[in-house]
Amino acid sequence: MKAEVILMKCPESRRIYGVRVEERYNDWFRTWAFPIDERRASHEGFDRTEIRGSLDATDDYNGCPYCGSVKFVLCGRCGKLSCWNNEERMTCGWCGLTGDIATTEDDVKVRGGGY
Ligand SMILES: [Zn+2]
Ligand SMILES: [Zn+2]
Repeated sequence: MKAEVILMKCPESRRIYGVRVEERYNDWFRTWAFPIDERRASHEGFDRTEIRGSLDATDDYNGCPYCGSVKFVLCGRCGKLSCWNNEERMTCGWCGLTGDIATTEDDVKVRGGGY
């Protein structure tokens, strides 16, 4: 089984966290989220992970370590992932973009971090 770690950012706390993802049935699933700081994430190379998949959460996925969110949005401007708490509007934790939820793609392409 292949596993990687991708990075997401929590707009509420303005902190990043790592999300362990596993490849199952030719798709990628989120299995575990854990707090991490930017220096360590960069040292581990988590900001360079590249995967493509639905990024659905498994049943035991624990959610964002700061706000508890299980859902995420893909930013249309910087292409990175942030927590999303079921509001009609999104805020990107990385670049600060706010806007309506527009992304309905099945597949999410993750291009890594970059702070
Ligand atoms: Zn969060
Ligand atoms: Zn963004």
